[in-house]
Amino acid sequence: MSTTLCPPGAAGVAAVDRTRPVLTVRLDAVAHNTRLLAGSARRLMAVVKADGFGLGAVDVARTALGNGADALGVATLTEAVELRLAGVDAPLLSWLDAPGADLSDAVLHGVDVAVPSVAHLDAAVAAARRLGRVVHVHLYLDCGAARDGCPPELWPGLCTAARRAEVAGTVRVGGVMGHLACAAGLDVEANAAATVRFVRGVEHAHAAGLRPALRHLGATAAVLGLPAARFDLSRVGAGLVGIDPTGRFPVLRAAAQVTAPVVQVRDVGAGVGVGYDHTYVTTAPTRLALLPLGYADGLPVTASGRAEVLVHGRRRPLAGRVSMDQVVVDVGDLSVRPGDVVTVIGTGDDAAPTLTEWAGWAGTLPHELLTGLGRRLVRRVVPAPPTSRPSALEEHP
Ligand SMILES: *Cc1c(COP(=O)(O)O)cnc(C)c1O
Repeated sequence: MSTTLCPPGAAGVAAVDRTRPVLTVRLDAVAHNTRLLAGSARRLMAVVKADGFGLGAVDVARTALGNGADALGVATLTEAVELRLAGVDAPLLSWLDAPGADLSDAVLHGVDVAVPSVAHLDAAVAAARRLGRVVHVHLYLDCGAARDGCPPELWPGLCTAARRAEVAGTVRVGGVMGHLACAAGLDVEANAAATVRFVRGVEHAHAAGLRPALRHLGATAAVLGLPAARFDLSRVGAGLVGIDPTGRFPVLRAAAQVTAPVVQVRDVGAGVGVGYDHTYVTTAPTRLALLPLGYADGLPVTASGRAEVLVHGRRRPLAGRVSMDQVVVDVGDLSVRPGDVVTVIGTGDDAAPTLTEWAGWAGTLPHELLTGLGRRLVRRVVPAPPTSRPSALEEHP
C-alpha cells in the first residue's frame, strides 16, 4: 500500500493516476461531517474502529478531533494502542476486549474500557492492581441487541461489583453505555424500548452508588434522527466517513472515491462471451475496456451483472463477473483509450455510482464495502483544512 498526500487545497481532488487504481480519502469530507454531526450532539466520540472504516484510523481520528470530536472510540485495545503509539492522546474508549484480556495496556496508555460483565471488571481490577493505578471503565448494558453488552438480568450485579471496585480504589466508572439495534431504520418502537432499558440501567447504576458522568447510547443514526437517544455523548463512526445508515439525511459527504485507469481496449462483435463462465455475452458490436481492480481490491463479486462505472461522464455497465484483479466495462461506442481514468466509486458530486449504490448492487452495506477496500489500492489522502480545537471529555490523571 502506498500513500500520497495531496498538497492542501489541491485542485482536482481526484488527482489522476493513469496507471494504477486509486482510493482517494477525503479528509475534507470527514472534517465537514464531523462539524455537522458535532453540532447535533452534546459531545461527540469519533469511532475509528476497523482502521477508521478502512480510511486510516489515525488520519480520521486527527481530522475528527480537529473538527469538533471530543473523544475517540475503537472496538479493541489493539486498535487503541495503535492510536496512542501514533501520538493520538485524546480520550479513548475500547469496548470489545475479551474478559481474559490483559488490560495493562489500557492502564498504561490511558484508555477507557467498556465493561459488560463481572469477568471483564475483574480483568480491569487485576490490571489496575498490578500497575498500582486506577482504570477508567464504562459499564456497557445490552439494550436489546442480544449481542455485546451486559444482559439486563446481570446488570444490577455488575453495578454493585463496579461500585465495590470503585470504593476499593481500583476502578473509576466514568460512563454507562448502550447501543441501539434498530437505529438504522429509525424503528421508533424498538428504539423507545431500548432507550427505556438504558435509562433504567443508568438508574440502577445510581442506586448502586455510581455517578457516571457520561451516558451514551446513540451512534450516527441517533445524531441524525433520534434526539431521544443522544444523552451526554454520541459515538459516531459511519457518519464521519459519509455513510448515512438511515438513508434519510442527504447532508453528509462521502469520504472515499475509487478510480481506475483503462489498461486495455478491444472492439468485439455480437455474441462474444466476456470473462469467466461467459456470464455476459455481447448483443451487438461494442467496445470493451479492462480495469485492473477486482474483488481483491474490494469490488464485490455479487455486484456482477448490475454494477456500473462512470466513463467519460457516462454510466457504463460492467461486463461479466468481477474477477480477483480485474473487471471489464462495456463502453459501447465511447471513444476510450488505455490511460483514460474511470470513476468506479464516486462521492455523489457527479454521475458516478456511489458507495451506497454499489452496496445495493452487491446486497450488502456501504460499511462492508468501505472497510473492505483493499490494501492494494494506491491511497491518496486529501487533507482537511487546518483547525484546532481542544478535547473536552474527562481528563485522565
Ligand atoms: C460501530 C459502533 C458505533 C458507531 O456506529 P455508527 O453507526 O457507525 O455511527 C457506536 N457504538 C458501538 C458500540 C459500535 O460498535
